[in-house]
Amino acid sequence: MKIAEIHIYSHDLPVKNGPYTMAKAEVWALDTTLVKLVADNGLVGWGETCPVGPTYADAHAAGARSALSQMARGLIGVEVLSLTLHRHMDGLLNGHNYAKAAIDIAAHDLLGKHLGVSVSALLGGAATNSVPSYDATGVGAPDDIARLAAEKRDEGYPRLQVKVGGRPVEVDIETIHKVWQVIRGSGMRLAVDGNRDWTTRDALRVSRECPEVPFVMEQPCNTVEDLQKIRPQVNHAIYMDENSTNLNTVISAAGTGLVDGFGMKVTRIGGLHPMRAFRDLCEARNLPHTCDDSWGGDIIAAACTHIGATVRPDLLEGVWLAAPYIDGNYDVENGIRIEKGHIVVPTGPGLGVLPDESVFGAPAASF
Ligand SMILES: [Mg+2]
Repeated sequence: MKIAEIHIYSHDLPVKNGPYTMAKAEVWALDTTLVKLVADNGLVGWGETCPVGPTYADAHAAGARSALSQMARGLIGVEVLSLTLHRHMDGLLNGHNYAKAAIDIAAHDLLGKHLGVSVSALLGGAATNSVPSYDATGVGAPDDIARLAAEKRDEGYPRLQVKVGGRPVEVDIETIHKVWQVIRGSGMRLAVDGNRDWTTRDALRVSRECPEVPFVMEQPCNTVEDLQKIRPQVNHAIYMDENSTNLNTVISAAGTGLVDGFGMKVTRIGGLHPMRAFRDLCEARNLPHTCDDSWGGDIIAAACTHIGATVRPDLLEGVWLAAPYIDGNYDVENGIRIEKGHIVVPTGPGLGVLPDESVFGAPAASF
């Protein structure tokens, strides 16, 4: 089965009750990019990539479409096999994992449909039919975030991630204490995500002033060097998110004991094929991690859910989806939804999601 056609779409996903606020970004609407691969046997596969604005990562929406257009002609006629495709893509364009991920996800969808199996089966087999999700609060006033924490606890979320940064660190510390008062004893796990914003000074202070709160400190500072600096001095587990841009960084961070786990985005690392290697490396080192994406609709959500379902359950920190912030689904019937803090793994062939492509309008580019 070879790639016969590639169609690239741009689609707006307005943020429900926006904006969504992080330390370094505020987003009102996200411009997502969809890829439709048509195979020479007529089967169709869908992929998606959606940077959460232009400042969260080294990625932006127009960049995704530009990188996809750069590679597209060279991918026509290539076998739909994930390793083969990645080597072809790397031969056509250096870097730009987040764009390559859309092709990778579409190829997994196609291959699953061709073989009549789900993407989680292609990735080694699901360990569960329902994966835990977690809620990520925006940056907000301590009392508001504590109220939200109580709501999410009652909804059945097993984990909460509180966003911090972009303001005096005293407010972050107050938020952490207030949230902990609310969720303590409930079994809900807590992560505090600085999204690269804290100085090492701030991170050390937070760890010192919250000694009784067992939170995971996620990507507190900007660089790997910052993490190396604070590592011997903090009492909290450290997870790497934004810095883990490829397998090479992950191998170093896991191999040197720099971190205790990862927040991982399927598109940042380049799609489901590298995600599978990441999952196995983490299992070899007993490192917990998430299987998320920064944003996106049903296609991304299905991809994250399928790989999440294959993670050893005690190592899966959860699958974060943008679904609660987006109105509607691409696939009204089988669209991915979070219920009681969990996501049902789709069972249909491929991703198990069939988008209504009239929602996306005419392609931005076709090859
Ligand atoms: Mg994060």
